[in-house]
Amino acid sequence: MKCGTCGRDAFYRRPYSGEVFCRSCYPEAFEKRVREAITSKRMLRPTERLAVGVSGGKDSLSLLHVLAKIEKGFPSAKLVAVTVDEGIDGYRGEAVNLAARSAEELGIEHHVVSFKALYGYTLDELAQRGRGLGQHAVCALCGVLRRKALNVAAREVGATKLATAHNLDDEAQSALMGLLRGTINELQREAGEAPGMVPRVKPFASTPERETALYAYLRRLRFQSNPCPYAGTSIRNEVRRFLDAMDEAHPGMKFTLLSTLEKLTYTKKQGKVAIGRCRLCGEPTSRDLCRPCELLQGLGLL
Ligand code: SF4
Ligand code: ZN
Ligand code: ZN
Repeated sequence: MKCGTCGRDAFYRRPYSGEVFCRSCYPEAFEKRVREAITSKRMLRPTERLAVGVSGGKDSLSLLHVLAKIEKGFPSAKLVAVTVDEGIDGYRGEAVNLAARSAEELGIEHHVVSFKALYGYTLDELAQRGRGLGQHAVCALCGVLRRKALNVAAREVGATKLATAHNLDDEAQSALMGLLRGTINELQREAGEAPGMVPRVKPFASTPERETALYAYLRRLRFQSNPCPYAGTSIRNEVRRFLDAMDEAHPGMKFTLLSTLEKLTYTKKQGKVAIGRCRLCGEPTSRDLCRPCELLQGLGLL
């Protein structure tokens, strides 16, 4: 197999397009595809002050690197890296350091917001409190609290948009989990716009996870690779295994799930969802209490 661009020995073939790349042509082709996704979905304006959610993993560090390159062509745009420190002993500290170092190397301002500062408890402390709820519940709690923390961080740095590194696999998993749990409405709401909510963009949404991993590897990015101690038994892992097997047997299934999610979101945007403010913390929500406050109240912490 030869690279379709330069004719050298290839190392990767995109199963969904048939394109073939060698090691030196792949990173640029990856960057070009992300740039095209941003343009075709009109994700960003040339004057954007863009907060980038950087966890320190391969996806978010790849995103920071790609966006830093793109930003060079837009002198009126500005990037700010934002990291949420959930407070997971022996895990998060290293990732926060890697995020900080990457931001520094790229000359990008870096802002960290912690669960401890925002909610008064680290995730470890909340997990202790919620003992008996099971690990699924720890991840669900973490996800809800992180979403709010990212929005708060993006607002604090005056961002006009917030970019996250969710890839095609993440999006397909979220769509299926939303359907299985009956919470697909929450995904739709997340995509909506509301006062106090920094609009989100996901430049990797149509990029398979394998491709962001290849990019991080070929660009020699230093990222955190050991898994979160709570990850082992999350529902997402089961959904991931199922979807990987289905996509292997029926290529393109993840893209189909993504487009289903986009259609549902589009339909929702046409209708009006009344967004108000949370009675306790003032964050935007369509209910009396936002989900983070509801969950913390459920643990007897509010
Ligand atoms: Fe949070 Fe679960 Fe992800 Fe760990 S695996 S960072 S607990 S969502
Ligand atoms: Zn090549
Ligand atoms: Zn609230």
